[in-house]
Amino acid sequence: TDRIRVGIVGYGNLGRGVETSIGLNPDLELVGVFSRRDPLSVTTASPDTKVYAIADLGDFTGSVDVLILCGGSKSDLPEQTPELAANFTVVDSFDTHAKVPEHFAAVDAAAVAGGNVAVISTGWDPGLFSLNRLFGEAILPQGNTYTFWGRGLSQGHSDALRRIPGVAGAVQYTLPSEDAIGRVRAGENPELTTREQHDRECFVVLEDGADADLIRETIVTMPDYFEPYDTTVHFISAEELARDHAGMPHGGFVFRSGESSPGVTQTIEYRLALDSNPEFTSSVLVAYARAAARLAAGGAKGAHTPFDIAPGLLSPKSPEQLRAELL
Ligand code: NAP
Repeated sequence: TDRIRVGIVGYGNLGRGVETSIGLNPDLELVGVFSRRDPLSVTTASPDTKVYAIADLGDFTGSVDVLILCGGSKSDLPEQTPELAANFTVVDSFDTHAKVPEHFAAVDAAAVAGGNVAVISTGWDPGLFSLNRLFGEAILPQGNTYTFWGRGLSQGHSDALRRIPGVAGAVQYTLPSEDAIGRVRAGENPELTTREQHDRECFVVLEDGADADLIRETIVTMPDYFEPYDTTVHFISAEELARDHAGMPHGGFVFRSGESSPGVTQTIEYRLALDSNPEFTSSVLVAYARAAARLAAGGAKGAHTPFDIAPGLLSPKSPEQLRAELL
């Protein structure tokens, strides 16, 4: 059968991850990267990958089956996904949870008008975690759902550390609270706030002459960011920061724990442990691109979320093969 022809829109961490992931999926073929920057200024992971200006996308309506949109959720995707859904099958990883309904509405209007398929908010959260929250609630209607994030790098909290006078560099990891996870695993069904579920760990490089005790105090008492949490601060050298903290690990847990009858506790646990958040997110985007292309080939239209996509469409295997091998 013919390979699915994929275009990457935007070449940052996710764009690079998608390029790599397509190489692991023989049923997919990379047409090229489409960037807002001068194509000559974009260096791809593989020298064979073609880079085009996004303005030239119009020439590719007949030669691309699906575009994987790798722009940022804050200001790129709210514009790019509806705009491109007018002319292409598209997939994005839009992750501003509070704005999903308005993003869906804008993308749906454009995709329906253009007769195209769009799949929004794929990735892991939203995405795979969302599916696991849905499974949990549907299967155990009496119970509690818990989402724990980490161990993972938090950009917002790292930025807050870097703004403190005397801090030369810093990263912050969000950690799931071992205590809270233990209680959920034990079937206690505790009432937990997001804050009780997470701890914070900071790695800070001081400027010359900065007062470590004062900075530690400034961090652990910072309202909203650190004060409500169990926060640990480690002072390290610039070399250690560069050597040990350049990666983008993330992951977490989704639990559903409830009773199917009085005294009969059922617990579902789903875990992700990711060395690279963007490479994993990209791998999810690629699987959903396959599903989107198949839906489009079948005549579907409009916006979809991971809730609307049948799992078998994500797999390169045929329905017959899936029934025989995985059911
Ligand atoms: P990023 O590296 O900042 O890239 C975003 C865009 O910025 C790129 O598409 C690129 O567009 C532009 N860009 C990248 N490098 C650039 C440079 N050196 N100079 C100028 N422009 C540059 O963001 P990302 O890490 O790929 O993440 C993208 C989004 O994915 C995030 O905003 C987040 O919302 C989402 N995400 C979702 C999940 C999930 O589970 N759902 C998980 C992780 C991330 P051009 O090529 O057009 O310039």
